Amino acid sequence: MRIGIIGAGAAGLAAAFDLSAAGHKVVVYESAPFIGGQASTIPVGGSQLERGYHHLFTNDKVILDLMADLDIAESMKWYPSRVGTYTSGKVYKTTTALDLLRFRAIPFLDRIKLGLFALRIGRIKEWRDLEDQTADYWLRERLGGMAYEKVWAPLLQGKFGDFYDQIGMPWFWSKIQTRFASRQGIRGREMLGYPDGSFDTIFDKLRSVIESRGGEIHISVPVTKVEVVDGMATALITKSSTGEQIREEFDTVLSTVPSFSFPDLVELPDDYKKRLTDVHYLAAVVVVLELSQQLTDFYWMNIADPDVPFLGLIEHTNMLPKDWYGGRSILYLTNYLDRTDPMYKMSQDELLDIYLPHLKKFNPKFDRSWIKKVHYNALSAAQPIIGTNYSNAIADHRTPIKKLYLANTTQIYPEDRGTNYSIKMGRKLADIILKDAQQNWRTWK
Ligand SMILES: Cc1cc2nc3c(=O)[nH]c(=O)nc-3n(C[C@H](O)[C@H](O)[C@H](O)COP(=O)(O)OP(=O)(O)OC[C@H]3O[C@@H](n4cnc5c(N)ncnc54)[C@H](O)[C@@H]3O)c2cc1C
Repeated sequence: MRIGIIGAGAAGLAAAFDLSAAGHKVVVYESAPFIGGQASTIPVGGSQLERGYHHLFTNDKVILDLMADLDIAESMKWYPSRVGTYTSGKVYKTTTALDLLRFRAIPFLDRIKLGLFALRIGRIKEWRDLEDQTADYWLRERLGGMAYEKVWAPLLQGKFGDFYDQIGMPWFWSKIQTRFASRQGIRGREMLGYPDGSFDTIFDKLRSVIESRGGEIHISVPVTKVEVVDGMATALITKSSTGEQIREEFDTVLSTVPSFSFPDLVELPDDYKKRLTDVHYLAAVVVVLELSQQLTDFYWMNIADPDVPFLGLIEHTNMLPKDWYGGRSILYLTNYLDRTDPMYKMSQDELLDIYLPHLKKFNPKFDRSWIKKVHYNALSAAQPIIGTNYSNAIADHRTPIKKLYLANTTQIYPEDRGTNYSIKMGRKLADIILKDAQQNWRTWK
C-alpha cells in the first residue's frame, strides 16, 4: 500500500513507523519546517530545547516501549522534580504529601482534606462513573472550602480560562492518576522523565528508521486537499515551496491535523463535521527566557493567583543541567489562551512588558538584565476542551470517507493529551489501517 500521512508530530510519525515496518510505503507531509509538532525543539546554547516545556511521567509506558523498539531506551533519564505553588503572595513548596501538611495558605483541616481527597480520587478506578459531572461541580460539592477555592479552582481557571466550569471530571481524574503514578510514596518526590538530547532523540530516530525503510518525510509541505472519488480518499494535493500544487495518489490517508482544520481539507457529512467543530481548543503562548541566573528553586510552579498574568513558570534547568544550555537558566512562562484573547495576538515584547514585573514575586532580586535571550512560541491547537459525557461525542478514527482516517488530540480520552497518548493513538491507527486493508480491500477496490 501507499499511505499518505498528514502531519509529522508524535501521532503521524508513530503510525508511519509501524506501517513502514509492515512493508508499506509511507509518505509523510508536514506543513512546518521541522518535525515533532507540539513537542518540536529549537536550538538553545548548543542543545535542543522543546518550544513548550516537555517531560514524561513514569506511567507513560507507550512512549517508553517505542523508545525500546527504536533501540534508544537508555537515553530516557529520570529526575526528581521540585514543585511549588504561588498563592496569596507567597511561594509554597508542594513537592511531597508532607509539604501539603505545611501548606499554610489554607487552614490545617483543609490541608488534611486536600491530601485525603487526592488519595480518594487516586483510588477511583472507573472514570466512566464521573463522566456526567464537571470537575468544577464535583470538586466544589465534595471538597469545597478553602482547599478548593485556594488550590484547585484557581488552577482550573488559569488553565481553562472561561471554560473552567465545562471541563469533564475524567480530565481531573486522569491528572491525579498520572501524578500519583510518578510519586514514590508519601515522602517521595515526583520523578519525571526527559530523554538525553531532548525529545528530538525520539523524533530523529523515528525519521531515520522510517526513511531507511523507504518512507518519505517532507517538511514545509502543507496538504491543502484530500481528493475523494466515489466516497473514497484517493489522493493528496500538496503545495510546494514555490506554490505549485502537486497531486499524489494514495491507497489510504491518515490525517493528524487538528479538528478545526480537518474540514478545510475534505468535505465531510454534517454529523461527523459537527463532532469535530464542537470541540474547542485553547492555544498555548510560551515565552522562553535564557537567564544568567536561577530565578527559583523549583522546576514546576503552579500559579494559583489570578493577579499573575501567566499560568505557569517552569524552570527547566532546575531539573536538567544548565551546562547543556551554555550555562544559562532556562525559564518557560506559559499561558493557555483562547485564540480570540488579545494576549494571543500580542508580540513578544508586549507580553514581556506585562509578564516581567511579576517575576520579582518569585525572586525579589530579579532584574531585566538577567535576560540574555528570549524565544516566543504560539501553538494554536495546544489543549482541547473536553466536557462532560465526551465518550458519546468523540469523532471516530474511521471517518465517513473510506480509506481516510483521523488521529488528533481530541480523540485522546479520558487521559489528557500528551506525547505518550499521541504515540499510542498513532500505533493504534496503524493497526486499524492494516486490519481494514486486510478485511475490506476487495470490496473497496
Ligand atoms: C505547551 C505544551 C506543553 C506540553 N507538555 C507536554 C509534556 O510535558 N509531556 C507530554 O507528553 N506532552 C506535552 N504536551 C502535549 C504534546 O506535545 C502533544 O500532545 C503531542 O505532541 C501531540 O502530537 P500529535 O502528533 O497528536 O499532534 P501535533 O504535534 O500537533 O502534530 C500535528 C502535525 O500536523 C501538522 N499539520 C497541521 N496541518 C497540516 C497540513 N495541512 N499539512 C501538513 N501538516 C499539517 C502540524 O504542523 C503538526 O506538526 C504539551 C503540549 C503543549 C502545547
